[in-house]
Amino acid sequence: MASTAEDLSSEREMFRDTVRRYVETELMPHAEEWEEAEGYPREVWNQLGEAGLLCVDMPEEYGGLGGDFPMSAVVLEELSRAGLAGLATGVSVHSDIVAPYVLHIGSDEQKQKWLPKMASGEVVGAIAMTEPGAGSDLQNIRSNAKKDGDQWVLNGAKTFITNGIYAGMVIVAAKTTPDGGSKGTSLFTVDTSLEGFRTGRNLRKLGQHSNDTAELFFEDVRLEADAMLGTENRGFMHLMDELPRERIALSIGAVAAAEGVIEKTLEYARERKAFGQSLGQFQNTRFKMAEMKTDLEMARALVQQGTQDYLNGQLTPTRAAMIKLGSTEMQCRVADGCLQIFGGYGYMREYPVARAFADARIQRIYGGTSEIMKELVAREMLGR
Ligand SMILES: Cc1cc2nc3c(=O)[nH]c(=O)nc-3n(C[C@H](O)[C@H](O)[C@H](O)COP(=O)(O)OP(=O)(O)OC[C@H]3O[C@@H](n4cnc5c(N)ncnc54)[C@H](O)[C@@H]3O)c2cc1C
Repeated sequence: MASTAEDLSSEREMFRDTVRRYVETELMPHAEEWEEAEGYPREVWNQLGEAGLLCVDMPEEYGGLGGDFPMSAVVLEELSRAGLAGLATGVSVHSDIVAPYVLHIGSDEQKQKWLPKMASGEVVGAIAMTEPGAGSDLQNIRSNAKKDGDQWVLNGAKTFITNGIYAGMVIVAAKTTPDGGSKGTSLFTVDTSLEGFRTGRNLRKLGQHSNDTAELFFEDVRLEADAMLGTENRGFMHLMDELPRERIALSIGAVAAAEGVIEKTLEYARERKAFGQSLGQFQNTRFKMAEMKTDLEMARALVQQGTQDYLNGQLTPTRAAMIKLGSTEMQCRVADGCLQIFGGYGYMREYPVARAFADARIQRIYGGTSEIMKELVAREMLGR
């Protein structure tokens, strides 16, 4: 792997070329079919693993490429830019969220057990915090794990879990000290082949159709003591530590998706004619495109700075919240503005802009809603 900043950036751009080619030749030809089928085949994970596109920033000893976070984010960027939002979300949860949890707070055994299989695509990773009765208000979760000898017995239900159908390992947040408040939750790595684990149906969504999102049920799932991830009762602290990275990843995806939809809209504005001229000659289209590009570039600058801060260990939760808020709101404004330029065609599902619009909408909700992001930012400004 490269050592200087210059080496790193040229290595990243070479990697980008490889990823872009892979996306164009291996994934894009199936995009329509996967959207219609509301799912991609399980083998896609193994193929991504073989191509070296999973867990890119995990150390080589654990099967990764030993790259840095921006290099891993190249995969997310290229999938998002191409409009493969479902796959982008699935891969990002797997590589940019679940794998880093294991790397940062997992034991050596947990790293050996899960990371090489996640890098090869043999195991798909998911993270399950949200429950039917607790989303933003995570402290209210009811899933619980009780000690029984050397084991933990896990019970509960989770919902809206990305990669829920294909997951082979799920990081589950559960109460281990019921009246412990924020200090009563722990994280577990749950092997989905264990007895008592059940996956619900693949939930039907407004957008990101190709990704599997599911309910998960845990009924007396017996976990060995070494399934605990990190420290007992410190689950919330661990979540708080990892959230800035998750929010930066979402923001990187937002910028790339907006860039992709702007590119497609520029092409359309040049080609489509009305009143004897191309759409791109109407002042409204020109101003709208200029506004959207400016909106995108402002968000990109913020996200790039945030990524650098993350790499330097200086990204604060408030800053990450601000970046997630700004970039995902920008993505939705851009998708909406682009759809308008496509006119009626923009509302047709076979047009990528219609998908970009529907796919974008969830970005303001998962990973913490825009309202929660505002609350976090306001708290620093005004106190609680
Ligand atoms: C496609 C998809 C994929 C997902 N993937 C995952 C996953 O992999 N893992 C996982 O754990 N979860 C996942 N989620 C869940 C997601 O993180 C939650 O939906 C999100 O956190 C919001 O929680 P909620 O849906 O319960 O909404 P609620 O918390 O009920 O919020 C409803 C509304 O009230 C607002 N609100 C709530 N509290 C406040 C407040 N204090 N101040 C102001 N407004 C407030 C919210 O902003 C929102 O507008 C996913 C969701 C979807 C739809």
